[in-house]
Amino acid sequence: MTEENLSFLEEVRRRRTFAIISHPDAGKTTLTEKLLLYGGAIRLAGSVKSRRAQNHAVSDWMEIEKQRGISVTSSVLQFDYNGCCINILDTPGHQDFSEDTYRTLMAADSAVMVIDSAKGIESQTKKLFQVCKMRGIPIFTFINKMDRSGKDPFELIEELEQVLGIRSFPMNWPIGSGRDFKGVYDRQKMQIELFGEGNHGQSKTNTVKGKIDDDKFKDLLGENLHRQLTDDIELLDVAGDNFVLEEVLDGNLTPVFFGSALTNFGVEPFLEDFLNLTTPPTPRESNFGEINPETDNFTGFIFKIQANMNPTHRDRIAFLRICSGIFKKGMTVNHVQENKKVRLSQPQQFLAQDRVVVETAYPGDIIGIHDPGIFRIGDSLCEDNSKTKYQGIPLFAPEHFSKVYTKNALKRKQFIKGINQLSEEGTIQVYKRPNIGVEELIVGVVGALQFEVLEYRLKNEYGVDILMEQMPFRHIRWIEMDNFDPSNFNITMDTMIVEDQDSKPVLLFANEWSIERVKERNKNVELNEISFRK
Ligand code: GDP
Repeated sequence: MTEENLSFLEEVRRRRTFAIISHPDAGKTTLTEKLLLYGGAIRLAGSVKSRRAQNHAVSDWMEIEKQRGISVTSSVLQFDYNGCCINILDTPGHQDFSEDTYRTLMAADSAVMVIDSAKGIESQTKKLFQVCKMRGIPIFTFINKMDRSGKDPFELIEELEQVLGIRSFPMNWPIGSGRDFKGVYDRQKMQIELFGEGNHGQSKTNTVKGKIDDDKFKDLLGENLHRQLTDDIELLDVAGDNFVLEEVLDGNLTPVFFGSALTNFGVEPFLEDFLNLTTPPTPRESNFGEINPETDNFTGFIFKIQANMNPTHRDRIAFLRICSGIFKKGMTVNHVQENKKVRLSQPQQFLAQDRVVVETAYPGDIIGIHDPGIFRIGDSLCEDNSKTKYQGIPLFAPEHFSKVYTKNALKRKQFIKGINQLSEEGTIQVYKRPNIGVEELIVGVVGALQFEVLEYRLKNEYGVDILMEQMPFRHIRWIEMDNFDPSNFNITMDTMIVEDQDSKPVLLFANEWSIERVKERNKNVELNEISFRK
């Protein structure tokens, strides 16, 4: 094996690419910041936030996000820790953007779910968890805010099983909680880790480690806390699930960690165990079966497109997950779907807080490539002429529909440009009624907030004011049928036949009853809730 080969394999194997999901306010941003702190990518925690005030922080660039205090779009951060190269994908916390979360998860190999110890599993944790489940990736749980008085740890573990239906294995166990949160017990190493005073989480925490039966801990913890810990551990060992790594990697068992991102307590033990347990870049399914990341041929797919990230440049960036081979700046690759060659000339990577031009990148990495309007979500790129095509990224079923018009007829060109752009980014889906004379656009979204994003971005990026007229539909089904003929298709009064952007026939339904009737009346039809773009 040549030296270059060896270092290529090392580079692949040291990569960890994961997404962090949470209900808003559970502590995703704080935890991300602390991971950067431990990775040495930022010196004093708090700089991500303070920077946000002066300048747009990478993960919070959009006005609407600031206004609503939610993260709408996902971004990527890369840093090194203990020899691992970490790629963190940020995801929107609000469930209205769960389709965007799903696309981001396509690029991730595992997920970290942050839970607020006082609130337990919240509504949006549930929704985001389901999206993770669909991907079948390993899910790690970080139970945060242990420095506040919260629910009983046993109750939280039970909630994971009862509410989310996932078995769990506490990797560590909290010693005390609220003001008395003193440390964690590592169940694998069978050792106690007590946290030092620290400086309000601004820098790394000092710890004291040792075996549970070491007398010094009886003194440090006090008789009562020590006895409670010993009892808790015994109960866990007897009554809890066993740890089976395959079950974790299959997404059936979630390793659980307790901590406080704010004070840094438990962040380091979490990071170390997580990096050991989670997977390096996994093989990905393609038209030729699974592609091993360690093969030479450079391949990857686009999971996200984002225009106007930088208001002064109006650029459009396609986010590419590298699946195999080495990426080199300026390389020419095959764009499989379009059957064309493209040169990847200005690739960007998102290092800690800055965007930089990337020279070389490896499987597991995410790079942003300049998109002159040629890429679509789900497109595959490959270096050789093999035409390797990765599994597509599905369109979710929208649940809200409106007719959308421009207020000013003279702005129609800009309006159409903006609509097309947002549709290509996957923010909205656009439908037309076939064979009707008037120009009419029907927009569907998965979460109602996406209409606000549509209105806001059309105004701010394209100078177009719009009118929206809500439609009564709640469900959509893509029609799979040979020789579909709308004039021979039997629907209910409140159902509409439209076409999506690939001219595929689609049905819009006001209620589930109508879906059943249409199925009964048209025997050979298959109705699908998700669709793959051509
Ligand atoms: P996100 O919406 O999930 O990204 O949540 P943030 O990281 O922005 O945190 C929401 C709020 O909870 C902020 O005021 C944080 O300072 C606070 N917070 C985050 N982690 C902790 C923690 O471990 N303990 C306490 N007490 N507060 C925390």
